[in-house]
Amino acid sequence: MYLENDVFMVLGISKSGFAAADFLLSSGAKCYVCDEFKNDDVLMSMSALKERGAIEVDARDAEVFVSNIDVLVLSPGVPIDNRISLAAKKAGKRIIGEMELGYINSTCPVVAVTGTNGKTTTCSLISSILDKARKKNVLVGNIGVPYISKLSKMDRSTVAVAEVSSFQLETLSSFNPHVAVVTNISEDHLSRHYNMQNYIYLKNKILFNQKESEYSVLNYDDYVVRGFAEKTRGKVIFFSAKEKVRGAYVQDDLIYFNDDAIMDRRLIRLKGDHNLYNILAAVAVGKLLNIPDNVIAEAVIEFKGIKHRIEYIKTIDGIDFINDSKATNPDSTIKAMASLAKPAVLLLGGRDKGQSFDSLMEACNRAMVEKVVLFGEARYKLLKAAERAETKNICIASNLYSAVSLAFAEAASGQCVLLSPACSSFDEFSGYEERGKRFEEYINALCDAE
Ligand code: ADP
Repeated sequence: MYLENDVFMVLGISKSGFAAADFLLSSGAKCYVCDEFKNDDVLMSMSALKERGAIEVDARDAEVFVSNIDVLVLSPGVPIDNRISLAAKKAGKRIIGEMELGYINSTCPVVAVTGTNGKTTTCSLISSILDKARKKNVLVGNIGVPYISKLSKMDRSTVAVAEVSSFQLETLSSFNPHVAVVTNISEDHLSRHYNMQNYIYLKNKILFNQKESEYSVLNYDDYVVRGFAEKTRGKVIFFSAKEKVRGAYVQDDLIYFNDDAIMDRRLIRLKGDHNLYNILAAVAVGKLLNIPDNVIAEAVIEFKGIKHRIEYIKTIDGIDFINDSKATNPDSTIKAMASLAKPAVLLLGGRDKGQSFDSLMEACNRAMVEKVVLFGEARYKLLKAAERAETKNICIASNLYSAVSLAFAEAASGQCVLLSPACSSFDEFSGYEERGKRFEEYINALCDAE
């Protein structure tokens, strides 16, 4: 790819599409921009890019127009089988994503994390460990910071800690992280990726280019992820909360990396057994990057977690409110239920992503869940799963606001209200952050009404 000679079209002018187009324009490339869904943010980004020399292509003409370009740059939000991508493929054009474009234009070592859940937590922990060791690093990718937007900070002595989603993996081809972590795999995003086989293939892609000098850090306790060990050429390092493995594991309450005892797990502040996995993965990465044991331990002990992930908000009338808005698939909600310290009223709902809710409802029956409030677009699909699993004490609310009021009325002192919705938020909100923020606002309104 020759930036000054090739003609690019960026499809999807969201955060990463904007960053990709911005980079291309600064590099002197000819850059077309296109978006099928023009909300206010997209319109603003488009006009800023047009002022800088980008040319807008009407989405209705884009299928024909692709014959004029060399490279199509897809935003993660645009599926690889979108009609415009298919036309570009048919016309023999190269299709890449913003992350691939950033990666091929950077020189720094990359630590990449993928998996269904725990990516952001693990990446943030790795970054905290590097910060503590005073090692330059940048957190990029699916975490909300386009890879390409940090190119100016990525010299050879800086580690890029990249959160990589399955959407981004669709358009990665030469991406080759020095250390690649796979946290776990469970059902998610099936409405985009069609089936588990394809989803697993995409997650596996993060290891495809690794060589003997690179590391594949894999969850030993996840059957599918453990199987990736057979398919990578990288050096396999496992992490396990159950067994002694080559890599990071727990024995007698101590966290080890091979024979080195790193820290006492009882000092961990992060709630939930699932977070032990994120910590083990981050410890393994810290060790592979030669960070001293005491520095790794200090960073892990100080790490308190990130917003919208099993986050305690406040207590009203003896009822604790917990925000786990980031739980956008059944497995993350199952893990949140397993971390409950008090009986809960659970808020489930939002937009369905094509997964089954049967195991979620079965887990609900076993967990400390007293009542379930179903809300949003997915409420009737959830209700059917609840009926199949014979889950008791179900209430229905149309939206999150009604669900919070209902949960407050249903919960008793000494219990908690847990928003861990197992669905995406896009039926009502712009994303899980807005959903979590509104949840907090609704709780504060309850407080004011008292
Ligand atoms: P991701 O970036 O992969 O979405 P996050 O770290 O943001 O992961 O966590 C997303 C949700 O998944 C949160 O609700 C969190 O409590 C839950 N979670 C975090 N780590 C794990 C894990 N290792 N296994 C299962 N669920 C997890």
